Amino acid sequence: MTATTTPETHYRKTKTGTWVAFGPAAAIIAGAELTVTTRSGAAKIEHIERVGRPFTVDGVQMVYGYLADRPAAHGGVCENCDASTGSLTECSDSSGISGYCCSRCASAPAVELSFC
Ligand SMILES: [Zn+2]
Repeated sequence: MTATTTPETHYRKTKTGTWVAFGPAAAIIAGAELTVTTRSGAAKIEHIERVGRPFTVDGVQMVYGYLADRPAAHGGVCENCDASTGSLTECSDSSGISGYCCSRCASAPAVELSFC
């Protein structure tokens, strides 16, 4: 990594066990969407809720970007049918209780969902 290349944004686990986006302060902006590169090299879009205090690494201002609540935080398991899936959608059951469910349950009528 050289100074002329903008460092990519990666996931990093903080001391408190929270997953954050870690990258250049110029790239991580609170309230904005951000592309974060996973360890496998895949790019994921995250919504940055807030940005931590900047610090300098190799002459570049770096920050932690705190991620908005996302389905992965729920273990990647559908709260309706317990299917394990990478992509969860927030939805509500007929009682108005919200939960995270898989794409199959997300397209089902609310009366068929139960998050209690
Ligand atoms: Zn499901």
